[in-house]
Amino acid sequence: MENKKKSKELPIGSILPGGTSTKNKTGSWKDKVPVWDEKKCIHCMICYNKCPENCILAQVKAGKIKRTKTDLEYCKGCGICAKVCPVGAITMKDASEVEKENKK
Ligand code: SF4
Ligand code: SF4
Repeated sequence: MENKKKSKELPIGSILPGGTSTKNKTGSWKDKVPVWDEKKCIHCMICYNKCPENCILAQVKAGKIKRTKTDLEYCKGCGICAKVCPVGAITMKDASEVEKENKK
């Protein structure tokens, strides 16, 4: 396992400046993963608008905006999307559990 330093052990000046988030795949921080149930989704786009990382993706089909996948490389697993979804289409699951399911 990689030996990562804790924030207090980092030298002053280690914190990256603003505007660099696209270069840093912050999704590795999360311990929970939002799992989207496409069948339940009514494409209200509330999660899209509320996600603080802007990692819920969408596309326009026949003039209507549709929610698509979640960019997990940047998702921090905060759970806001699951909280705001009016139809319970997003469930927060343990990242380790999801990783195991994806390997099957
Ligand atoms: S868990 Fe947080 S960061 Fe991840 S998609 Fe949902 S709102 Fe965005
Ligand atoms: S908030 Fe729920 S219903 Fe609305 S777009 Fe997101 S997943 Fe779909």
